[in-house]
Amino acid sequence: IEAQLRKSDTLHVIGELAAGIAHEIRNPMTALKGFIQLLEDSVKDDHSMYFNIITSELQRIDSIINEFLILAKPKAVKFIEKDITKIMWETVEFLHAQAALHNIQFQTAYEKDLPPIYCEPNQMKKVFINLLKNAIEVMPNGGFIDISIKSTKDDYIQISIKDEGTGIPKDKVEKLGQPFYTTKERGTGLGLMVTFKIIEEHKGRIEVESELGVGTIFNIFLPLK
Ligand code: ADP
Ligand code: MG
Repeated sequence: IEAQLRKSDTLHVIGELAAGIAHEIRNPMTALKGFIQLLEDSVKDDHSMYFNIITSELQRIDSIINEFLILAKPKAVKFIEKDITKIMWETVEFLHAQAALHNIQFQTAYEKDLPPIYCEPNQMKKVFINLLKNAIEVMPNGGFIDISIKSTKDDYIQISIKDEGTGIPKDKVEKLGQPFYTTKERGTGLGLMVTFKIIEEHKGRIEVESELGVGTIFNIFLPLK
Protein backbone atom coordinates (compact mmCIF):
# COMPACT_ATOMS: atom_id res chain seq x y z
CA ILE A 1 0.00 0.00 0.00
CA GLU A 2 2.85 2.34 0.81
CA ALA A 3 4.44 1.78 -2.58
CA GLN A 4 1.11 2.53 -4.20
CA LEU A 5 0.81 5.77 -2.29
CA ARG A 6 4.24 6.91 -3.38
CA LYS A 7 3.47 6.03 -6.96
CA SER A 8 0.36 8.16 -6.85
CA ASP A 9 2.31 11.06 -5.25
CA THR A 10 4.82 10.94 -8.07
CA LEU A 11 2.04 10.82 -10.63
CA HIS A 12 0.57 13.88 -8.98
CA VAL A 13 3.80 15.87 -9.32
CA ILE A 14 4.32 14.72 -12.89
CA GLY A 15 0.74 15.61 -13.64
CA GLU A 16 1.15 19.15 -12.36
CA LEU A 17 4.40 19.60 -14.22
CA ALA A 18 2.90 18.28 -17.45
CA ALA A 19 -0.13 20.47 -17.04
CA GLY A 20 2.11 23.49 -16.46
CA ILE A 21 4.05 22.79 -19.62
CA ALA A 22 0.87 22.16 -21.58
CA HIS A 23 -0.37 25.54 -20.47
CA GLU A 24 2.83 27.23 -21.65
CA ILE A 25 2.63 25.55 -25.05
CA ARG A 26 -0.80 26.96 -25.69
CA ASN A 27 0.27 30.48 -26.64
CA PRO A 28 2.93 29.52 -29.20
CA MET A 29 0.43 27.01 -30.60
CA THR A 30 -2.12 29.75 -31.15
CA ALA A 31 0.47 31.82 -32.98
CA LEU A 32 1.49 28.83 -35.11
CA LYS A 33 -2.08 28.10 -36.11
CA GLY A 34 -2.70 31.71 -37.04
CA PHE A 35 0.39 32.06 -39.21
CA ILE A 36 -0.08 28.75 -40.94
CA GLN A 37 -3.56 29.88 -41.85
CA LEU A 38 -2.14 33.09 -43.32
CA LEU A 39 0.54 31.15 -45.15
CA GLU A 40 -2.00 28.77 -46.63
CA ASP A 41 -4.05 31.69 -47.89
CA SER A 42 -1.04 33.36 -49.51
CA VAL A 43 0.76 30.38 -51.04
CA LYS A 44 -0.27 30.00 -54.64
CA ASP A 45 1.15 26.57 -55.47
CA ASP A 46 -0.91 23.57 -54.67
CA HIS A 47 0.50 22.50 -51.37
CA SER A 48 -2.85 21.72 -49.81
CA MET A 49 -1.71 18.24 -48.81
CA TYR A 50 1.11 19.70 -46.73
CA PHE A 51 -1.29 22.07 -45.07
CA ASN A 52 -3.74 19.27 -44.34
CA ILE A 53 -1.00 17.32 -42.62
CA ILE A 54 0.19 20.35 -40.66
CA THR A 55 -3.36 21.10 -39.56
CA SER A 56 -4.05 17.54 -38.49
CA GLU A 57 -0.78 17.29 -36.57
CA LEU A 58 -1.50 20.62 -34.86
CA GLN A 59 -4.90 19.24 -33.87
CA ARG A 60 -3.17 16.23 -32.41
CA ILE A 61 -0.88 18.41 -30.30
CA ASP A 62 -3.97 20.33 -29.25
CA SER A 63 -5.74 17.22 -28.01
CA ILE A 64 -2.66 16.09 -26.08
CA ILE A 65 -2.41 19.51 -24.45
CA ASN A 66 -6.09 19.45 -23.58
CA GLU A 67 -5.78 16.08 -21.86
CA PHE A 68 -2.87 17.32 -19.79
CA LEU A 69 -4.58 20.55 -18.85
CA ILE A 70 -7.29 18.52 -17.15
CA LEU A 71 -4.64 17.24 -14.76
CA ALA A 72 -3.92 20.78 -13.64
CA LYS A 73 -5.80 21.86 -10.56
CA PRO A 74 -8.09 24.40 -12.19
CA LYS A 75 -8.48 27.44 -9.98
CA ALA A 76 -12.18 26.97 -9.54
CA VAL A 77 -13.19 23.35 -9.91
CA LYS A 78 -16.83 23.63 -9.08
CA PHE A 79 -18.32 20.54 -7.51
CA ILE A 80 -22.09 20.73 -7.58
CA GLU A 81 -25.00 18.36 -7.06
CA LYS A 82 -25.91 17.03 -10.45
CA ASP A 83 -28.03 14.32 -12.03
CA ILE A 84 -25.41 11.96 -13.45
CA THR A 85 -27.94 10.34 -15.78
CA LYS A 86 -28.52 13.70 -17.44
CA ILE A 87 -24.77 14.11 -18.02
CA MET A 88 -24.62 10.65 -19.60
CA TRP A 89 -27.71 11.38 -21.67
CA GLU A 90 -26.07 14.52 -23.07
CA THR A 91 -22.85 12.63 -23.80
CA VAL A 92 -24.69 9.87 -25.65
CA GLU A 93 -26.50 12.51 -27.72
CA PHE A 94 -23.16 14.12 -28.49
CA LEU A 95 -21.57 10.85 -29.70
CA HIS A 96 -24.65 9.48 -31.41
CA ALA A 97 -23.66 10.45 -34.96
CA GLN A 98 -20.10 9.20 -34.60
CA ALA A 99 -21.37 5.85 -33.32
CA ALA A 100 -23.93 5.50 -36.09
CA LEU A 101 -21.17 6.12 -38.62
CA HIS A 102 -19.52 2.94 -37.32
CA ASN A 103 -22.75 0.95 -37.21
CA ILE A 104 -22.81 1.15 -33.45
CA GLN A 105 -25.92 1.61 -31.36
CA PHE A 106 -26.12 2.71 -27.75
CA GLN A 107 -28.46 0.79 -25.45
CA THR A 108 -29.18 2.59 -22.22
CA ALA A 109 -30.73 1.45 -18.95
CA TYR A 110 -31.00 4.15 -16.34
CA GLU A 111 -32.46 3.53 -12.89
CA LYS A 112 -35.27 5.96 -12.17
CA ASP A 113 -35.09 8.76 -9.62
CA LEU A 114 -31.44 8.37 -8.71
CA PRO A 115 -30.22 10.94 -6.23
CA PRO A 116 -27.79 13.58 -7.55
CA ILE A 117 -24.04 13.14 -7.35
CA TYR A 118 -21.65 15.70 -5.96
CA CYS A 119 -19.37 16.23 -8.96
CA GLU A 120 -17.76 18.51 -11.51
CA PRO A 121 -20.12 18.00 -14.47
CA ASN A 122 -17.61 18.88 -17.21
CA GLN A 123 -15.09 16.43 -15.85
CA MET A 124 -17.71 13.70 -15.60
CA LYS A 125 -18.68 14.37 -19.18
CA LYS A 126 -15.03 14.05 -20.14
CA VAL A 127 -14.88 10.65 -18.42
CA PHE A 128 -17.95 9.41 -20.29
CA ILE A 129 -16.65 10.73 -23.62
CA ASN A 130 -13.26 9.04 -23.12
CA LEU A 131 -14.80 5.67 -22.25
CA LEU A 132 -17.45 5.76 -24.95
CA LYS A 133 -14.92 6.80 -27.59
CA ASN A 134 -12.64 3.95 -26.58
CA ALA A 135 -15.59 1.59 -26.89
CA ILE A 136 -16.42 2.91 -30.36
CA GLU A 137 -12.80 2.63 -31.45
CA VAL A 138 -12.52 -1.07 -30.60
CA MET A 139 -15.67 -2.00 -32.55
CA PRO A 140 -14.76 -1.50 -36.21
CA ASN A 141 -17.52 -3.87 -37.31
CA GLY A 142 -20.22 -2.20 -35.28
CA GLY A 143 -22.47 -3.64 -32.59
CA PHE A 144 -23.97 -2.51 -29.32
CA ILE A 145 -22.61 -0.44 -26.49
CA ASP A 146 -24.63 -0.98 -23.31
CA ILE A 147 -24.72 1.81 -20.79
CA SER A 148 -26.34 1.37 -17.41
CA ILE A 149 -26.58 3.54 -14.33
CA LYS A 150 -27.89 2.25 -11.03
CA SER A 151 -27.41 2.57 -7.28
CA THR A 152 -25.71 -0.08 -5.18
CA LYS A 153 -26.62 -1.29 -1.70
CA ASP A 154 -23.53 0.34 -0.22
CA ASP A 155 -24.53 3.82 -1.39
CA TYR A 156 -22.61 4.12 -4.61
CA ILE A 157 -23.80 4.92 -8.09
CA GLN A 158 -22.56 2.34 -10.56
CA ILE A 159 -22.06 3.40 -14.16
CA SER A 160 -21.30 0.55 -16.56
CA ILE A 161 -20.12 0.83 -20.14
CA LYS A 162 -20.03 -2.47 -21.97
CA ASP A 163 -18.68 -2.91 -25.46
CA GLU A 164 -18.43 -5.77 -27.94
CA GLY A 165 -14.90 -4.91 -28.94
CA THR A 166 -11.54 -6.61 -29.09
CA GLY A 167 -11.15 -7.05 -25.35
CA ILE A 168 -7.96 -6.38 -23.39
CA PRO A 169 -5.28 -9.05 -22.83
CA LYS A 170 -4.88 -9.88 -19.10
CA ASP A 171 -1.25 -8.78 -18.98
CA LYS A 172 -2.18 -5.39 -20.42
CA VAL A 173 -4.89 -4.48 -17.94
CA GLU A 174 -2.38 -3.00 -15.49
CA LYS A 175 -1.07 -0.75 -18.25
CA LEU A 176 -4.42 0.99 -18.60
CA GLY A 177 -4.15 4.57 -17.44
CA GLN A 178 -0.37 4.71 -17.73
CA PRO A 179 0.54 7.88 -19.61
CA PHE A 180 1.09 7.23 -23.33
CA TYR A 181 0.04 3.57 -23.20
CA THR A 182 -1.80 3.07 -26.46
CA THR A 183 -2.28 0.27 -28.97
CA LYS A 184 -3.73 2.63 -31.58
CA GLU A 185 -1.83 4.09 -34.48
CA ARG A 186 -3.28 7.52 -33.82
CA GLY A 187 -3.85 7.14 -30.10
CA THR A 188 -2.46 9.45 -27.41
CA GLY A 189 -2.64 7.00 -24.52
CA LEU A 190 -3.84 9.81 -22.28
CA GLY A 191 -7.60 9.27 -22.17
CA LEU A 192 -7.67 6.66 -19.43
CA MET A 193 -5.02 8.44 -17.38
CA VAL A 194 -7.24 11.50 -17.27
CA THR A 195 -10.32 9.35 -16.67
CA PHE A 196 -8.77 7.54 -13.67
CA LYS A 197 -7.53 10.84 -12.27
CA ILE A 198 -10.95 12.46 -12.45
CA ILE A 199 -12.70 9.48 -10.84
CA GLU A 200 -10.08 9.44 -8.08
CA GLU A 201 -10.77 13.12 -7.43
CA HIS A 202 -14.43 12.24 -7.06
CA LYS A 203 -13.52 9.63 -4.43
CA GLY A 204 -14.72 6.90 -6.75
CA ARG A 205 -13.11 3.90 -8.38
CA ILE A 206 -13.03 2.11 -11.73
CA GLU A 207 -13.11 -1.64 -12.32
CA VAL A 208 -12.43 -3.32 -15.64
CA GLU A 209 -13.73 -6.69 -16.80
CA SER A 210 -12.60 -7.90 -20.16
CA GLU A 211 -12.60 -10.97 -22.35
CA LEU A 212 -10.58 -11.20 -25.53
CA GLY A 213 -12.76 -11.25 -28.61
CA VAL A 214 -15.90 -10.75 -26.54
CA GLY A 215 -15.68 -7.29 -25.10
CA THR A 216 -14.96 -5.07 -22.15
CA ILE A 217 -16.93 -3.56 -19.30
CA PHE A 218 -15.77 -0.43 -17.50
CA ASN A 219 -17.54 -0.04 -14.14
CA ILE A 220 -17.36 3.32 -12.42
CA PHE A 221 -18.41 3.61 -8.78
CA LEU A 222 -19.14 7.06 -7.38
CA PRO A 223 -20.06 7.65 -3.74
CA LEU A 224 -23.52 9.00 -3.06
CA LYS A 225 -22.32 10.78 0.06
P1 ADP B 1 -5.99 5.89 -26.60
O1 ADP B 1 -7.48 5.73 -26.78
O2 ADP B 1 -5.49 7.18 -27.14
O3 ADP B 1 -5.22 4.71 -27.10
P2 ADP B 1 -6.62 5.51 -23.80
O4 ADP B 1 -5.92 5.91 -22.56
O5 ADP B 1 -8.01 5.98 -23.98
O6 ADP B 1 -5.71 5.98 -25.02
O7 ADP B 1 -6.60 3.92 -23.91
C1 ADP B 1 -5.36 3.25 -23.79
C2 ADP B 1 -5.44 1.86 -24.39
O8 ADP B 1 -6.28 1.04 -23.60
C3 ADP B 1 -6.02 1.79 -25.78
O9 ADP B 1 -5.07 2.07 -26.77
C4 ADP B 1 -6.50 0.34 -25.83
O10 ADP B 1 -5.43 -0.52 -26.12
C5 ADP B 1 -6.91 0.07 -24.40
N1 ADP B 1 -8.37 0.20 -24.24
C6 ADP B 1 -9.04 1.21 -23.65
N2 ADP B 1 -10.37 1.02 -23.68
C7 ADP B 1 -10.56 -0.17 -24.29
C8 ADP B 1 -11.73 -0.93 -24.62
N3 ADP B 1 -12.97 -0.51 -24.33
N4 ADP B 1 -11.52 -2.14 -25.26
C9 ADP B 1 -10.29 -2.58 -25.54
N5 ADP B 1 -9.15 -1.89 -25.26
C10 ADP B 1 -9.28 -0.69 -24.64
MG1 MG C 1 -8.94 6.81 -25.77
